Amino acid sequence: MRLPRCIRLLLACSSIALGAPLASAADDPPKPKPKYQTEILRGRVVFLAAAMQRRFGAKTVKEADERILALETAKGDLHPLFEDTRGRAFRSDKRLRNREVTLLVRRYDGSPVVQIIRLFAHNKSGLVELDYWCEICAIPMFELKPCDCCGGPIRLREQKAKLPEIPPAPPRNKAAR
Ligand SMILES: [Zn+2]
Repeated sequence: MRLPRCIRLLLACSSIALGAPLASAADDPPKPKPKYQTEILRGRVVFLAAAMQRRFGAKTVKEADERILALETAKGDLHPLFEDTRGRAFRSDKRLRNREVTLLVRRYDGSPVVQIIRLFAHNKSGLVELDYWCEICAIPMFELKPCDCCGGPIRLREQKAKLPEIPPAPPRNKAAR
């Protein structure tokens, strides 16, 4: 029996995805767990250079205009974004920069930069989680690009969602200070 093309592609994609971490896990020594706080931030994603100029009159060099993305809250706080594929989604798709978003982020100890874990926004039905979706392969992706499997177009998907519960930040260890 011959499987449909999208299923064959999906199987090929899954075996690549499964194979990679197994191979590297065997080679690497165990690493200490990174320490981070999980936070929920709400605002608009902007380029840091433009926001710094608008807010403080601080000007970057021209080539740095679109180098760093940041979340700007309604209060005006700026949180620089770590640019992995979830962060880069805001660079690749202007629609994401043109609306208010809610980000579930990690802030690692000793770093001001936040890493996006989940992306939410509001529409007429309330809170929705955003990602990208290929109708043919039925797989989600984190940024706008041709589908990882079939190379076809993908769409921005909005799914009704609830904000996850964030455990309160642990109290600072006074003895260690
Ligand atoms: Zn596809």
